[in-house]
Amino acid sequence: MTAQKTSLSRRLSNGLWPELAERLATALPRYGEPTPERQIFVNRALRMESIRFVGFDLDWTLADYRRLPLEKLTFELAAERLIQENDYPEAIRDCQFRPDFPRRGLLIDKESGTVLRMSRHRFVNLAYRGRQRLDRHQLKQLYRYEPVQPASDRFYHVDSLFELPETNLYSELIELTKHDEGSRLPSPRAIFDDLRQAIDWVHAHGALKQRVVADLPRYLHRDPELGLALARLALGGRQLFLLTNSDWDYAEAICSYLLDDLLPGLEDWREFFDLIVVGAGKPDFFSRKRAFSELSRTGEVGGEVAAPRWLGTYQGGCLEGLMKLIDDPGESVLYVGDHIYGDIVSSKLESTWRTTLIVRELEEEIRHRADLGLRLDEGIALRQRLVTLGHEMDHLRDLLEVTKSSLQGPQADTDQLAPIQDRLQAVTSDLRQLLGREARWSEKLDASFNPYWGSFFKQGTSKTRFASQLEAYACLYTSRVSNFAYYGSNRYFRVPWDPMMHELAVDSDI
Ligand SMILES: [Mg+2]
Repeated sequence: MTAQKTSLSRRLSNGLWPELAERLATALPRYGEPTPERQIFVNRALRMESIRFVGFDLDWTLADYRRLPLEKLTFELAAERLIQENDYPEAIRDCQFRPDFPRRGLLIDKESGTVLRMSRHRFVNLAYRGRQRLDRHQLKQLYRYEPVQPASDRFYHVDSLFELPETNLYSELIELTKHDEGSRLPSPRAIFDDLRQAIDWVHAHGALKQRVVADLPRYLHRDPELGLALARLALGGRQLFLLTNSDWDYAEAICSYLLDDLLPGLEDWREFFDLIVVGAGKPDFFSRKRAFSELSRTGEVGGEVAAPRWLGTYQGGCLEGLMKLIDDPGESVLYVGDHIYGDIVSSKLESTWRTTLIVRELEEEIRHRADLGLRLDEGIALRQRLVTLGHEMDHLRDLLEVTKSSLQGPQADTDQLAPIQDRLQAVTSDLRQLLGREARWSEKLDASFNPYWGSFFKQGTSKTRFASQLEAYACLYTSRVSNFAYYGSNRYFRVPWDPMMHELAVDSDI
């Protein structure tokens, strides 16, 4: 087994070599102030000075896929597999590819065949069965009589961008069950199981990877700034490692396309990393005990070791073995991944690693919010007026209650009640009108983000489940790894503002 001879961090610990120094120097001034969509956002303060190791997931993290062609290919291959293997009707070839329907953070209800959005309070307020949006009565019937248990086997979490095509296809198959062409289809749960198997097959044995590898420019963005970001992170000898679930052959092909010759003086992608671990099997990687299998430069599997060595390439392994090598507190590790559970929640639960979540959806969301400009101000003004009217209504109701109870009996003087009742009636009418305007405004605003689900991070005035998980578990979040190119290697990422409701009530200038 031959380990690589050196790495970017080792070479940088001896200082920058001229070509790279020039590239970083000419690039830096441009990177002074990143635009909002390329910024790194902070949930939990993090001093990069204390980070000695940075780990990266590969798929949708370092590897930024082109969503549409990849999703369309997965969608079509899975449908074909269902026809060939599960005897599904040929009509499913006509299922509509709707890339704006699925998104991360949704749940699939395998029993009722719905795709739904749940708030962070486990409240289902939007769901579709096939292409049909459920009305309030249907939602109530399905989800209001007992709390939704998202961890139960009834629900499937759409956490990864890889899972979007199957969410789309599942919804289309459910739609088909309502029509003649779909009469041969099984129950919603059986459709889900068949589809999951088909998708697993497409990923593991099917043509998906071959097709991607055969035409990498079609399916992947090669980001020239990625090399600069990795160089910036490796400055001062900080060690970088790759920790991916992908197998060696696929990871090799993808990384070679993304990173070979990306920086002057670095021809081979392997040199970016001080350690490479493929086939990691996250999230189990963080909790199980498993040996690391050494891999040769060409991917042949060698002997097993409990702990890896720097500059080696391995398959499998576990957190415990990796931490033996790192031999430093977990807080000195920053892990960068895109999977809210597999990369972020599970590493947070099992270690003290710091985390960065890559949220590709962020750029579009921020751009759209910026475009909305004054329309957002209009909504804020409407909501402020609603709060004021709501307070007045509460006060009038309280006053009416007290006045009524003090006037009970034959002396009751309705003259005292009439002005309060009149004012209450006027306020209630204003409030109703305003609520109607606010609802219409919200609906239009939501549809402008996405016709099915609205904003990715907000539902009305509260946060989506994805947004609240992101806040709870990711120390930092940003749209792509290359955004680190805009920040100094030892940046102190501060939380600028994290107020609680009671603080807002006392001081609006926090
Ligand atoms: Mg990933």
